[in-house]
Amino acid sequence: MSTIFARIIAGEAPATIVYKDDLVTAFKDIRPLAPVHILIVPNKEIPTVDDVTADDEAMMGRMFTAARKIARDMGIAESGYRLLVNCRDNGGQEVYHLHMHLLGGRRLGPMLARRD
Ligand code: AMP
Repeated sequence: MSTIFARIIAGEAPATIVYKDDLVTAFKDIRPLAPVHILIVPNKEIPTVDDVTADDEAMMGRMFTAARKIARDMGIAESGYRLLVNCRDNGGQEVYHLHMHLLGGRRLGPMLARRD
């Protein structure tokens, strides 16, 4: 079943697109958690990172090279950034179309808060 991200990629829903090529599309997160918060999304509909196959390896590599290019374009390459992929319920995934978060522009703190 298509998600909002498929409609954004198809140009049927609004988004601020910052990068697009034959394999991935990147746009600004609508509820940013950092000064720079971009979502890098495969053009092909894949629900979760647990659904990728060997056929998707080129696309997955492109997600990283696109992230690197966007980080440079947005001036956060030197200060640093975080790439993050959530998977299913325990991973906190809300939108079931694979995506990588690119976060930066401030010190992000520890990756996970300790619960004890
Ligand atoms: P996740 O929890 O990893 O599935 O993250 C989903 C992300 O998608 C959240 O950070 C949302 O703010 C973001 N999001 C949801 N709908 C939209 C939208 N229409 N445009 C841009 N970002 C969105």
